[in-house]
Amino acid sequence: MSFYDTIREYDWNDVLKEIESRTPADVEKALGEAMPSSDDLMSLLSPAADKCLEEMAQKAHRITEQRFGKIISLFAPLYLSNECTNQCVYCGFNACNAIERRTLTPQEAFEEGKKIHGLGFRHLLLVSGEAPALVPPQYFAQTARLLRPLFSSMAVEVYPMATEEYSLLVDNGVDGLVIYQETYNRDCYDKVHPAGKKRDYLWRMETPERGGRAGFRRLGLGALLGLSDWRAEAFFLGLHARYLLRKYWMSHVTVSFPRLRPAAGAYEPAKPVSDRELVQMVTALRILLPDVGLILSTRENPHFRDHLIPLGITSMSAGSRTEPGGYTHAHEAEAQFQIADERSPEEFAEVIRQKGYEPVWKDWDAVFMEGDVA
Ligand code: SF4
Repeated sequence: MSFYDTIREYDWNDVLKEIESRTPADVEKALGEAMPSSDDLMSLLSPAADKCLEEMAQKAHRITEQRFGKIISLFAPLYLSNECTNQCVYCGFNACNAIERRTLTPQEAFEEGKKIHGLGFRHLLLVSGEAPALVPPQYFAQTARLLRPLFSSMAVEVYPMATEEYSLLVDNGVDGLVIYQETYNRDCYDKVHPAGKKRDYLWRMETPERGGRAGFRRLGLGALLGLSDWRAEAFFLGLHARYLLRKYWMSHVTVSFPRLRPAAGAYEPAKPVSDRELVQMVTALRILLPDVGLILSTRENPHFRDHLIPLGITSMSAGSRTEPGGYTHAHEAEAQFQIADERSPEEFAEVIRQKGYEPVWKDWDAVFMEGDVA
């Protein structure tokens, strides 16, 4: 049994129709629930909920403050490789794009890590495309082992692996796994992933579960917003997160909100998501999932990011480079996408403080897992 068995019970178009049929009374009912159901989630994602956005924002704010306090945890991505054998139509690293390919050596990755550490970060996200013949699991294990002394927490956002490969990463200090389904819409998934291993929808969908079995402390989900209708994506994303929370209760679950950004290949989002719609999605998922970390990256512009700080987001990236080697040699390699918030980490931390929140550079240490604390 996996989440695939759950999602198979639904039809994408029926879910959309159901969401669109919800009334203001349904939304009021959902907002009044102490423990909203998946049926309530449909109401919170509906066009009718747009009129209650202020009320949803207030509820999301209250829940987040109760569960997390007034904090924003900060992390930085480290791009290790832009090699990729897949042809995702929306991505700058698509195998068909004529860009210069580069994979950092573990020592070069360590130099990048030192730069990131010097900016204040202690939470790191290791990122790469999918080219296991050139960049195998052992490479990530070796690189993580080198970086381990610099960071209290490391996650990977790389290609889906088998459980035993993930165990190798866990053994070498990686404690988090981030894997976006990209889109839960099967037809759209097939269309935007025309070639490569990534065509395998089921293999990707079951990835967080293999990660849970391997013992990752954090499991991160997301849908790439702009590929298909955001209301249905948010519904399935919410179901997926709740499924993992129940099945892998030892792991902390997070949800990210990546909106499509310009990249090499110039893909135009088929279903663009407005700022207001993204706020509705964030607040609806916060109300459904009070204990789930919600993540916003530098894909979003400064004004929007600042606005979202009190509305449910608990973790953000800052000062990001999205090309391999970007912290030590900026602009020498092709970036995966253009970032929209170019403020330095310290500048952004100051904005967080001005809003009455505490920027958190470190909230975890591997020593907690080793039983060295009294
Ligand atoms: S999204 Fe990932 S798998 Fe797809 S082309 Fe880009 S780097 Fe490769």
